[in-house]
Amino acid sequence: MSVWFDEVLHDGVGQRLEVEEVLYEGQTEFQDIKILRNKKFGRIMTLDGVVQTTEGDEFVYHEMFAHVPLLAHGGARRVLIIGGGDGGLLEEVLKHDVAHVTEVELDGGVVEVSKRYLSSICGQAYEDPRVNLVIGDGAKFVAETDQKFDVVLVDSTDPIGPGAVLFTRQFYAHCKRCLNPGGILVTQNGVPFVQGDELESSVAHFRSLFADGSAYVLSCPTYALGFMTLGWASDDAGLRQQSVATIQARFDALGIETQYYNPAVHVAAFALPNFIAKLID
Ligand code: SAM
Repeated sequence: MSVWFDEVLHDGVGQRLEVEEVLYEGQTEFQDIKILRNKKFGRIMTLDGVVQTTEGDEFVYHEMFAHVPLLAHGGARRVLIIGGGDGGLLEEVLKHDVAHVTEVELDGGVVEVSKRYLSSICGQAYEDPRVNLVIGDGAKFVAETDQKFDVVLVDSTDPIGPGAVLFTRQFYAHCKRCLNPGGILVTQNGVPFVQGDELESSVAHFRSLFADGSAYVLSCPTYALGFMTLGWASDDAGLRQQSVATIQARFDALGIETQYYNPAVHVAAFALPNFIAKLID
């Protein structure tokens, strides 16, 4: 008899993934962690019943999360990641010529389980000497630190439980204080077809704090129900309006291979379908 993992995506809507094997199941101080195996997506990490990442499609989200802001910036040396315990975003960020990455993840259990079961996603990222892993609350970290970063990436869970604080105006204000001039903030902002309020509220906060606030889209199969958005904030609107040629030159200099990201997709991702644009305008 087949066993299925059912994820509730919204009131009355869900997705089903057949479970070939449960590789890990455990409870930390903060959440329930599962590593499942599915025929199509390979290993899947869930936290409190919500899909976080899968071997099959993680490249979409992590490439777009890392390469869009880093190539738009063009000279980032210091990066801060809040959340992101699966290590997939960290692994992509480290492909750039960065000198230092601090990752602040609330739950050390997520990092440990990812290192053990998701090495195809995080690789050896946590062993890289440029990385400073801090186990703690990202909101507390940005409120207290005097360090400065060129790019801040908020790879959080949805705004329920411990992730909720990472969607507040106060948190974004502290992120802005941690940014060097010319810095960029990018945030996980959900699937607007069903989580439109989340995007609307984050971008309103960005616009009250930064000269420019917007979002860009990506399409990742297990973040179901249409485009997912990553929120974007900076004090320079020009950073999200660069030409394909400019981004292409930086991408070529980096010399990496990608499966979803390319400079044309980068530039096009800022073109928002009307129903998404309406949420933030
Ligand atoms: N791509 C993902 C998704 O599907 O939403 C997010 C991946 S990553 C696993 C999310 C991480 O954010 C989790 O490991 C969680 O522990 C962490 N997190 C939640 N709240 C946090 C907080 N306040 N400070 C730091 N990390 C937090």
